[in-house]
Amino acid sequence: MMEDNEGIAKMARLLQDGTFQIDGGMLVYGVPKFYGKLIKAKLQPLYIESGDERILVDTGIGDLPEKFEKIHGVEKKLSLLDSLKEMDLSPEDITMVINTHLHFDHTGYNREFTNAVTLAQEAEIRYSAYPDRFQAGAYLQKNLEGSKFRGLVGEKEVAPGVTVLPTPGHSPGHQSIAVELEDEVIIYTGDVSPLSINHEKKWIVGILYDPVDALCSLEFLDELSTWWPEKPKRFIYSHE
Ligand SMILES: [Zn+2]
Repeated sequence: MMEDNEGIAKMARLLQDGTFQIDGGMLVYGVPKFYGKLIKAKLQPLYIESGDERILVDTGIGDLPEKFEKIHGVEKKLSLLDSLKEMDLSPEDITMVINTHLHFDHTGYNREFTNAVTLAQEAEIRYSAYPDRFQAGAYLQKNLEGSKFRGLVGEKEVAPGVTVLPTPGHSPGHQSIAVELEDEVIIYTGDVSPLSINHEKKWIVGILYDPVDALCSLEFLDELSTWWPEKPKRFIYSHE
């Protein structure tokens, strides 16, 4: 199946959209040493070329209103858009955006990608329109306006070698992305495991929709390690 490379992605590269500050208790649930400790969280969308598609997984924190930039301690040497420019790409070149979920720090520049179809789980698109009070602050409606959303239900290969895998818990329709390349498989966990320690210790993320789902999704990351047995896996944790 792999001889002609038809079923795999051509390349993938991690981009940058700076950092923001977040209380450790939002990233790791129930472990006292993380509470009250500010963590500098990375924002690192993934760029993929596969088949005819130029894909971005998540779009960073974007340009928040100044007041929110201060509150969230956003620091940027390079924005996602600069990061694309370095690769000679403009926002119009992107044909597909895949959002792990629709929280504001993953959808910051969504609306810049006017030629892209935007893929998210249907459950996430629905929830973002009417979130519970305890998650409402995480969805910024301005980020979601103008995106051409296509709702997915469950696991799906959306381009050769690029598969979305539902991993709910942090939010109702959270998904992780596996990218099969020639010599490795990248697993972009999203906020199932914002830091490597979540995965390693099975410590669920601190911002939660359903803690039991969140734990099952963390365990699913281990199961993914056994897929594609012939290739090494590289996990990318959203805010590490
Ligand atoms: Zn999130």
